Amino acid sequence: MAEVITARVPIGISACVFRCPVRYNGKAFDALATIGRERQDFSFTPVCPECMAGLGVPRMPIHLSGPGQEVLAGKARVKDRRGHDVTDALVAGSRACLNALERAQVRAMVVKEASPSCGVYKARVGKRRAEQVEGSGVFGAMLLDTGWFLIPDDALANPLLWWDWRRRLHAWLWLSDRQISGASDLYEAWHVVKFIIQETDRPFADHVGRELAALPKGAPQALLDAMREDILHALRKPSNRKRIRQAAWKTYVHAKKKGTLDGVDLHDLTVNSPEVRENLTQVVKELTTLERISFENDLLFGTSPVLRRDGRRVAAHEREKGDT
Ligand code: SF4
Repeated sequence: MAEVITARVPIGISACVFRCPVRYNGKAFDALATIGRERQDFSFTPVCPECMAGLGVPRMPIHLSGPGQEVLAGKARVKDRRGHDVTDALVAGSRACLNALERAQVRAMVVKEASPSCGVYKARVGKRRAEQVEGSGVFGAMLLDTGWFLIPDDALANPLLWWDWRRRLHAWLWLSDRQISGASDLYEAWHVVKFIIQETDRPFADHVGRELAALPKGAPQALLDAMREDILHALRKPSNRKRIRQAAWKTYVHAKKKGTLDGVDLHDLTVNSPEVRENLTQVVKELTTLERISFENDLLFGTSPVLRRDGRRVAAHEREKGDT
């Protein structure tokens, strides 16, 4: 049976990809344009560390002399095009954003990659374009320290990429909140999320399976927490189209063979085998329909084991079950 999250998920977002015109040149992007009604599943808190630094709009672009981690350690600086040092202001602005996100109880964030402030892995570090390397921005380095679930803005650029990030985010939130006070709790939680990890990192999934099998009954809490952290870390790893298609197909065929889909309304669903070429919209349609079927029929669709549903829909579903 699928696990269900009903709360609206609080999520941070770089303000400039949330249609706020706060970029250095006064422009903005709309990273959420592709996700449609799913916006309603989230409560967004947009933040802009450069605005909170007091740099204003428009402003001169800034550059880092070293990655964000070095800036925070006092070993690198941030300057604007005229050479004005804005390091202290940007660190203060980033801290202010982090505080606001914590007040909003955020544990996940959509970041504008490539920015010297918000970028997490692909911020351009160095003054001259030809000499720049990729690293973390100043705010990005702070975000990495939080252990939150970080989503690059380009993950929202196509529907399948977003589907993958969204299902892993939900599984990550579910596992983060799960009470794990004994080996059996961890084992049960693993049984829910393991299909995603088998899909994205098979050797790690096998390793966890062996470790769990060897866990003594009275395993110390520190060991359980460390194992949960490792699994949470693995849930951050993106999949790819081929693996997603294969996993969805395997689940579908398995369910049909076992007859678990017998008598279930398939909503005219056709799931094509992975060899069949389909456009992304069609693939996502198959996946979201499988999710819907799993929710409505209390099945576990291992490819997407944790679903977010509105509390009223869950209550209506429970009532329907009670009536039958
Ligand atoms: S600091 Fe972040 S939110 Fe502000 S404009 Fe730059 S990338 Fe966007």
